[in-house]
Amino acid sequence: MQPSAALNRIKPSPTLAITQRVGELQRAGVDVIGLGAGEPDFDTPDFIKQAAIRAIRDGQTKYTNVDGTPELKEAVRLKFKRDNDLDYRVDQITVNAGGKHTLFNAMMATLDAGDEVIVPAPYWVSYPDVVLVANGTPVFAAAGADQGYKLRPEQLEAAITPRTKWLILNSPSNPTGAAYSEDELQALGEVLERHPQVWIYADDMYEHIVFGDFEFRTIAQVCPSLHDRTLTANGVSKAYAMTGWRIGFAGGPAWLIKAMGKLQSQSTSNPCSIAQAASVAALTGDQAFLKDNAALFEGRRDMVVSMLNQASGIRCPRPDGAFYVYPDISELIGKATPGGKRIATDEDFVGYLLDDARVAAVQGEAFGLSPAMRISYATSEELLREACERIQTACAALR
Ligand code: PLP
Repeated sequence: MQPSAALNRIKPSPTLAITQRVGELQRAGVDVIGLGAGEPDFDTPDFIKQAAIRAIRDGQTKYTNVDGTPELKEAVRLKFKRDNDLDYRVDQITVNAGGKHTLFNAMMATLDAGDEVIVPAPYWVSYPDVVLVANGTPVFAAAGADQGYKLRPEQLEAAITPRTKWLILNSPSNPTGAAYSEDELQALGEVLERHPQVWIYADDMYEHIVFGDFEFRTIAQVCPSLHDRTLTANGVSKAYAMTGWRIGFAGGPAWLIKAMGKLQSQSTSNPCSIAQAASVAALTGDQAFLKDNAALFEGRRDMVVSMLNQASGIRCPRPDGAFYVYPDISELIGKATPGGKRIATDEDFVGYLLDDARVAAVQGEAFGLSPAMRISYATSEELLREACERIQTACAALR
């Protein structure tokens, strides 16, 4: 027996691997600061936990509808109306075991061999691999720091072919924090209007983590003409600090939602009944804490961007959202470490940071745009300051 050809096309998630490695080092007593994790460092709000406890007590412990309880679908429908001014019927809503599962279902349900999916780079690590395992072909479009890590309309136009099935649009972005303004979405929408075969997978997972006067918009809202070929995906993982609960959801055309449900009925069945009850509370309860959390992240962003820009050879753009920065490290390539090792790639640099500075970041190579690294600032200000100081010292030691 051997792994299938489909499995051989993909690799294990590099970000989860780094989180695991940091855990191992810490358990072995090494003083390493992990900046690799893709999850908020604070706990799920208490009112959400209480709803889960009530659900257990009330016996909500059985199978539910395959793609979500009526209560959660209704809560998601209202959320899309309230936050995004999007109109969906309940049969246009799907609930899945996390945002990654939503993506998996959508790609598996729609891709045939040879179908292309446009993935702007740098990208969240799962996009290309989920496309590949679903037999599709990722088509990358490089959007570097010089263009704010955002896809330009002319790049989109150039990437589209008759085989293009999806464009994946993630705003605010993992790994860069870049977020598309209404005008930028409009401009991409104008290109998409000329290509009716292209569907849009709008990944809004970080919608509530935006800073300053940036106003979040999603493409189906900005371009109503694209509503019927957009899957608007979101979830409770990041904004509600519920990564472990595994609830993602999406709104889209009924036939697609039904197709994704069919796949789910023969794979995972329903997402955890208790996590669904907790998610109803999350989406319908008081939303005020979302802004407080965003303000907390904003303070950390400002500190991290400023401190990284003081490290020699690092250029760190200032993103509008999420909890990541994606500094460019091109000036460090070719330098030598105090131990005499040459830094040839961003992977070498993050290896040096881990070994010598005891700071764990993720190499840009994992996200498809080098030389750079992703730093997650979903950790305490104290640890972030210490980590940035260590990075400054490590950069100054390079020759
Ligand atoms: N979308 C983006 C852009 C993400 O960064 C993540 C998680 O890292 C997800 C979706 C999936 O989140 P989850 O599967 O944990 O709900």
